Amino acid sequence: MQPTSTAGPVAVPDVHQAEPIPAAAREAIDALMQTADLFRYNSDEAPVTLLEAEFAEMMGTRYALAVSSCSAALFLSLKALGLPRDARVLIPGFTFAAVPSSVIHADCKPVLCEVGTNYRINLADFEAKLDQDIAAVIISHMRGHTSDMDAIMSLCEARSIPVIEDAAHSLGTTWGGEKIGTIGQVGCFSFQSYKMINAGEGGILVTDDADLVARAVIMSGAYEHNWKKHKRRGENSSDLEEAFERWQNQLPLYNLRMNNLSAAVIRPQIPELARRVRDGLVNHDYVAGRLNQSPWFDVPPCLAPEVRAPDSIQFNLVNLSDDQVLAFAALSAQRGVKVQVFGMSTDNARAFWNWQFIEDLPELPQTRAMLMRACDVRLPVRLTQPECDAITDVLLGAMDDILGEARAYGT
Ligand SMILES: *Cc1c(COP(=O)(O)O)cnc(C)c1O
Repeated sequence: MQPTSTAGPVAVPDVHQAEPIPAAAREAIDALMQTADLFRYNSDEAPVTLLEAEFAEMMGTRYALAVSSCSAALFLSLKALGLPRDARVLIPGFTFAAVPSSVIHADCKPVLCEVGTNYRINLADFEAKLDQDIAAVIISHMRGHTSDMDAIMSLCEARSIPVIEDAAHSLGTTWGGEKIGTIGQVGCFSFQSYKMINAGEGGILVTDDADLVARAVIMSGAYEHNWKKHKRRGENSSDLEEAFERWQNQLPLYNLRMNNLSAAVIRPQIPELARRVRDGLVNHDYVAGRLNQSPWFDVPPCLAPEVRAPDSIQFNLVNLSDDQVLAFAALSAQRGVKVQVFGMSTDNARAFWNWQFIEDLPELPQTRAMLMRACDVRLPVRLTQPECDAITDVLLGAMDDILGEARAYGT
């Protein structure tokens, strides 16, 4: 926690400033500089191997595989499922461009479904599309918003369709007490700087499926017998070894391994996670409570089984014209709070119509309408309550001022 000033209002904080990396990382990096063991397969006790064991322990999964990004984890998950060329993969129409990109990279075809004004998958559209020759599903918990995982899993299990969870931005979120990322066949997380654990870049996948993880490990770049350094957490690894022997020399190597330096930065952040999640949720719910008192803002509630781990806030602007939305975003920015309106900023990577690398890009009217009013403001977990107030005051004040002007000019 930062000390807070008692003299006057607090300045609007820089929301792109991350929390410092724990000092223990520096010692681990110094040790790596001495030994120069930067490659994960140099030793049995490499930081990447230790990170995988610790992450699997934290998530309660049998296996974890650390890689270069969440995008790489999503790509490897699709490849590890053994999907044939042109297999159709159902994804939400509201996600980051990395998700459809991973599908294209795996030689599959992204199929988009509608997302509602609460940023969660429209289950009627999801179910309708699931019966259109879908081979796999990626559930992207966009900005940590969890869709109804009970309904999704039962629809997919009834059809034997595997579910990959894109939990890039959901580390620490739970659904009915279960950790997000452990509900589908495989879960993928990101360590990019804007996520709960920051290594600049990095990703990890978790699963209980020995065959799936063996395939992903080999394709991630465990050439020759480097797979012998991968174990099942806390138990004998005979089913894993059998899977590795089955797949030895059968799969291409994509070399998406994690560097030991990244693992050295990540490992000391794991004990900080519970605090970050707690503080992030307190900050989010505090700002949401204030915004929801205004008729012009709507922060949708989460679903009942969900406990969130937010480091940003999303809200919809209510009863405003396009011009008023733009004026609100511009005035907030001028006062120090960057508001991203997903559908209104040029070339936004989260607006599906900009994913023009997809053949026959569909129209999704409901998702489009949501994106034209949905706003995104970063709310790093390190913020104090007065700093949260400073941000909220800017948002509420900018709204008052643009509406006041509109009234004054009679529009
Ligand atoms: C950040 C993010 C990704 C991509 O993660 P990288 O590690 O940068 O590849 C994918 N999906 C979602 C929902 C994200 O927030």
